[in-house]
Amino acid sequence: MYKSAFIFQSIAFGMWRKVSIELPEAQIIAEQMIQTMLDKKVKSVALSNYQKLQKIGFINRNIKDFDKLIECKIKSIDYRGNVIHIQFNKKMNLVLCGDYGAQYRFIRKGEELPTKIHFKMEFIDGTFFTIRQSGMGLIYAAEDSEVPNLYVYKRDFSDTPSPVGEHEFTSERFSELLNEKKQNIKASLVGKTAVVVGLSNAAFQEIIYKAGIHPKRNTGTLTENEKSNLYDSMKEILNERICSGGKDNFEDLFGKKGRHIPVMGPNMKDKNCPQCGAAIEKISHGGGQVYLCPRCQR
Ligand SMILES: [Zn+2]
Repeated sequence: MYKSAFIFQSIAFGMWRKVSIELPEAQIIAEQMIQTMLDKKVKSVALSNYQKLQKIGFINRNIKDFDKLIECKIKSIDYRGNVIHIQFNKKMNLVLCGDYGAQYRFIRKGEELPTKIHFKMEFIDGTFFTIRQSGMGLIYAAEDSEVPNLYVYKRDFSDTPSPVGEHEFTSERFSELLNEKKQNIKASLVGKTAVVVGLSNAAFQEIIYKAGIHPKRNTGTLTENEKSNLYDSMKEILNERICSGGKDNFEDLFGKKGRHIPVMGPNMKDKNCPQCGAAIEKISHGGGQVYLCPRCQR
């Protein structure tokens, strides 16, 4: 259901401002959750304006599943790729995925709740956790036995390497994985054929610009030097985004804006390349718009 939902998302969310949650942003949110939400006990759960989300498989088919979270206590919070897994006692879980747009917020006692939210969880201490799902993603209440079967969980809590935070994922390993699948560079970094987890179109544009690689390249044509540049660019971009509190259109769990200004992406529209001065171009590629420098990216 989730996989085929892609084509519907523009219909459902076309008018909304989308803030994609990629690995850096999911990591920031999850780590803030660990610091603030562990051991909290759920008082109530409410969903609103969820019919569209439900129709395209972004939340449980049976809304009553969320009632099973009431009185449960948060035991642990894990993350991988851009999926966040909140484990409660009583064999319950909440699996979250921001993919193409979500705003997660923790609301302290006395603070105002955000508007236009789809999910609201109140804890017995009077604090709240809320979600606004503005694009493709998942808000799913699941029993322990259901978690491994959820598409996004299988996708990201998998054998596919994480581009940051895993020492065994070396430049050599990345190069091997690119060689195994000779495919377009975008398919190698984003989506279900990707050799790493957690990236979408935004990170893709930044990484290949920094590496000087054209979005239409096939990984079979990349030199060892280009593959090594790609690996370094990926690490640098993602680590920089984590250290800067996420992308500039992202807001963290407490509503604080990220400070990372993408080196390439829609923000470069009608601008010139800061490295060579060429006019930035836009192409439709791999189910999205890709901005690039025609001179620096070969
Ligand atoms: Zn350039």
